[in-house]
Amino acid sequence: MNTNFENYKKFLDSIDSDINKIFEYQKEYIHCKKGCSLCCERGDYPVSELEFNYFMRQADTLDENFKRNIKEKADIIKQKNLESYTCPFLFDGECVIYKSRPLVCRLFGVLTEDKTGHPVYPFCAEEGLNFSEVFDETTRHLSLDLAIKKNFKVLPRFCKLSYQVVLNLPLAKELNIEFGKTKRLIDFL
Ligand code: SF4
Repeated sequence: MNTNFENYKKFLDSIDSDINKIFEYQKEYIHCKKGCSLCCERGDYPVSELEFNYFMRQADTLDENFKRNIKEKADIIKQKNLESYTCPFLFDGECVIYKSRPLVCRLFGVLTEDKTGHPVYPFCAEEGLNFSEVFDETTRHLSLDLAIKKNFKVLPRFCKLSYQVVLNLPLAKELNIEFGKTKRLIDFL
């Protein structure tokens, strides 16, 4: 597997720039703020080998106590065979590998479409957070009618940046990025 971290960093910068634009455009619906870590408390977090190797470079610089604690938390999750779990890299509501966090974490909170066009919305819409104002409790889906009724300046828009779509972007090919096998984050630890 090609582990060209320099090119991967370029890829991340481009994705971050796109995601920032999406957040900016949809800011009326976004409730992400420092201290909210709901996205890191419930999930299975698919991660490729490249992403894992990249963020482990930062994880390796952490204090020994953090490293021991991450391992202990991971062992408990594996013993309990949890499908959805709190990420072991979350400490006091903050990610200890934030700068090099996986791609899926960078996509937390946005409305996306998977490659088959199926809409994917952040689960926090149901928790009174992102896009909750336009979340229709009856249909369990987002409602454009609600956005119009509530006079939002822009309509919520699904972006084609699901995790699978991001892995297959032409830019990845251009930069000769090989992601390697994808597994649940916990299965790498
Ligand atoms: S790696 Fe960081 S951002 Fe991603 S789920 Fe874990 S704590 Fe959250």
